[in-house]
Amino acid sequence: MANKKSDKFFKNYINGSMQPPASGMYIDNYNPATGAVFSYIPDSDERDVAAAVEAACRAFAQWGNTSLDERSRILLRIADLIEQNLPQLAAAETEDSGKPITLSSTLDIPRAASNFRFFATAVPHFASEAHYMPGTAINYTLRRPIGVVGCISPWNLPLYLFTWKIAPALAAGNCVVAKPSEITPQTAFLLAEICINAGLPPGVLNIVHGYGPKVGRAIVGHEQVKAISFTGGTKTGRDIAKLAAPMFKKLSLELGGKNPNIIFADCNFSEMLQTTVRSSFSNQGQICLAGSRIFVQRPIYEKFKNEFIAKTYLLKMGDPMQEDTQIGAVVSKQHAEKILSYIDLAQQEGGRVLVGGNAVKLKGRCSNGWFVEPTVIEGLDFTCRTNQEEIFGPVVTITPFDTEEEVLQYANSTQYGLSATLWTQNLTRAHRMAEELECGIVWVNCWLLRDLRTPFGGVKNSGVGREGGWEAFRFFTEAKNVCIKT
Ligand code: NDP
Repeated sequence: MANKKSDKFFKNYINGSMQPPASGMYIDNYNPATGAVFSYIPDSDERDVAAAVEAACRAFAQWGNTSLDERSRILLRIADLIEQNLPQLAAAETEDSGKPITLSSTLDIPRAASNFRFFATAVPHFASEAHYMPGTAINYTLRRPIGVVGCISPWNLPLYLFTWKIAPALAAGNCVVAKPSEITPQTAFLLAEICINAGLPPGVLNIVHGYGPKVGRAIVGHEQVKAISFTGGTKTGRDIAKLAAPMFKKLSLELGGKNPNIIFADCNFSEMLQTTVRSSFSNQGQICLAGSRIFVQRPIYEKFKNEFIAKTYLLKMGDPMQEDTQIGAVVSKQHAEKILSYIDLAQQEGGRVLVGGNAVKLKGRCSNGWFVEPTVIEGLDFTCRTNQEEIFGPVVTITPFDTEEEVLQYANSTQYGLSATLWTQNLTRAHRMAEELECGIVWVNCWLLRDLRTPFGGVKNSGVGREGGWEAFRFFTEAKNVCIKT
């Protein structure tokens, strides 16, 4: 922050008010589309986390016992205010992340409001079990909030994933200390103002900005924080587990993915093609559920290749603030470099770039932004690094296959197991494959179709635990069995 380039200083939200970081230091916040610093983020540390946890502990005494109706009412007000402020929030999300404004305003922000609305209306219906032992006893399960919980989220769907954790945690009666990604903190900062306006009592939600290894680590390591819900990279998830496991914290880890998109010759071709363009390049491919490994049955491989390349070529890259932009900037300079290094690696591994492959310099306002062309690569073995490691950018590989057994081997070959997409009209095959695929979510003839009641999460190195619906409430409550002799 040597030469100040903006007057916009974000603050932490602690104990119901906006506060500067204890260190007095700030971190530059970049707009990826212009490459320029546009605001400053608190460089918080364990002192801010300690203050946030203290406030949360105090607030819990009341919030944990607030009636379901009251909790629900406040969370619904937050949902309403997110909707009322949609244009401002969408613009902020785009400014922070480089994603097209159409995506922020039709997906990210509406889904953030839905998260609050869904869990606010679900919590009055959350019931616990009873187990009757005839003539002997009755057991019932009490489900009480845990206390203070930590929520840590990534930069790719900033407000959407932040609220996906916070909303059920609060609805279940917990108090929260949360950290958004330091790369995309703006909508979390705006959410704090919304919570104040919605009448959320002080300390119930606390938002501490700053670096992961400093603020995130302090949240995970704080002894009063009893559970951690984390979404982010697999390596970070492993670091968090190392710190939290010996402290016996509850952990929900939603981690990386390298998802297969399996296309059989009998699919509805035009629907598949349209959706595959989306599942490859939406949000510049920076979606944990993106289908980055595309396997196509040989009879339609050439047709798919030609039409997919043609559609990819037509995607409009541009200033993310413009309504007709389909491909915006990737989130940071470092991330652009990482993506480009994987495109180099793919070529060293024998891959042919069919379309894209380069960084792009746009004209005008975005001339210093970080843009990478949507890229399609063929000719790679399923075991190579390009097909095994998460790139998390607008890069997909295409590979032909002949049989179901063969493609299952390809699909299940990575360390990851988040989601898979299947395109076929053969229902028997769809059921059979859905059972065999090693992942937490299977989409058949669709992608990113989300019902918030369903369990969400991955297997293998894509994570531990499930979020969504009752799963989220089970995670954010502690079960206690009460056995009464009859
Ligand atoms: P990171 O793992 O780098 O960061 C995620 C969050 O953790 C950020 O807030 C980060 O802070 C924080 N953090 C970093 N280090 C620590 C630490 N030692 N202790 C506690 N917190 C820490 O992920 P990205 O932000 O780069 O997000 C991309 C990744 O997220 C991809 O791998 C993607 O697949 C995954 N993801 C998974 C999803 C799922 O549902 N399974 C959904 C969306 C994304 P900071 O940013 O300040 O470093």
